Amino acid sequence: MRPFTYTSATNKEQALKASTKTSHYLAGGTNLVDLMKEDVERPDQLIDVNKLDYKKITSNEKGGLSLGAMLSNAETANHPEIRTNYPLLSMAMLSAASAQIRNMASNGGNLLQRTRCPYFFETSMPCNKREPGSGCGALKGMNALHAIFGYSDNCIATNPSDMNVALAAIGATVEVQKKDGSSRMIEFTDFHRLPGDKPEKDNTLEQGELITAIHLSKPEFSDHYYYLKIRERSSYAFALISVAAGLQVKSGVIAKAGLAMGGVAHKPWKLSKAEEFLVGKKPNKSKFEAAADLAMKDAKPFEANKFKVEMGKNAIVRALTQAYEREA
Ligand SMILES: Cc1cc2nc3c(=O)[nH]c(=O)nc-3n(C[C@H](O)[C@H](O)[C@H](O)COP(=O)(O)OP(=O)(O)OC[C@H]3O[C@@H](n4cnc5c(N)ncnc54)[C@H](O)[C@@H]3O)c2cc1C
Ligand code: SF4
Repeated sequence: MRPFTYTSATNKEQALKASTKTSHYLAGGTNLVDLMKEDVERPDQLIDVNKLDYKKITSNEKGGLSLGAMLSNAETANHPEIRTNYPLLSMAMLSAASAQIRNMASNGGNLLQRTRCPYFFETSMPCNKREPGSGCGALKGMNALHAIFGYSDNCIATNPSDMNVALAAIGATVEVQKKDGSSRMIEFTDFHRLPGDKPEKDNTLEQGELITAIHLSKPEFSDHYYYLKIRERSSYAFALISVAAGLQVKSGVIAKAGLAMGGVAHKPWKLSKAEEFLVGKKPNKSKFEAAADLAMKDAKPFEANKFKVEMGKNAIVRALTQAYEREA
């Protein structure tokens, strides 16, 4: 690991003032420190933000809850109000990593965790995300785990977070503090970006911006929800494909649907067309299959990850079925 200096901030002003182009905020460290050990991330300064007072869950003006950015994934997922009102989020978060990692990992850090593309971790291989302009090792290499939507020739990586998929399905905004002391809100669907010709940039944060909260929309899917995560082993593994499904059913008809997929794109992949299609329909297998066909219609897989298209359709149907049949 390369040498770096360590600063512990006790308030946001200190953290923002200390940040530079080459520094990183340090939350749980479960992703950043791993990447520093692999020589992928090379900050010259770590600004520890764990003492900042963003560790609460509070009510917000949208009738939803706001999650402090420095609250741990475990405390968030197990919070009684999250379990009751946002069980889809809780279920997705509890499917991630292990109990030990969820205790350390923060909500802000989870949003910013980096891809698990093996070429990104291997510094002897080309990778435009790690080293812009060096090429993409995965494009013609081992890409069974890679994207089938929204990629470019510069990068075909996927976003690995489970929490992100649930947030895309239920709706949220991210509050960030800017270096000049002001704050701004970013719609969750605009927070992560597609690779385009800047694959080194995973999200729309500007240099030095500090995430302080994630504001959840009012709860809509507390009765009918399911997070389906398909992975190579049942614990401690990232999703090959995941689906977050929430349904609001009124008088036997779908009044609202929240649907997003993980493991298929550079950002959590919101299935807006399928969501719209489901509204006004009676929930049943043929409608779920039609929604899944619509969702996967524009997939552009590689030879090695063609399986994701069929798997994705089946996963959507299964997640919607489980969500609908779930007893509240
Ligand atoms: C073995 C293993 C298995 C895993 N399995 C899964 C899984 O199945 N599903 C899943 O979703 N995740 C999984 N993870 C990833 C884990 O969830 C993330 O590492 C974690 O959420 C990152 O949070 P952190 O607080 O540790 O972030 P850190 O590692 O501290 O930081 C990550 C990045 O976010 C930045 N950052 C942190 N907080 C802020 C802030 N408030 N404002 C601005 N920037 C900030 C840091 O500078 C850094 O760039 C796994 C991790 C490991 C090690
Ligand atoms: S897919 Fe993206 S992260 Fe993976 S090697 Fe290509 S550029 Fe790097």
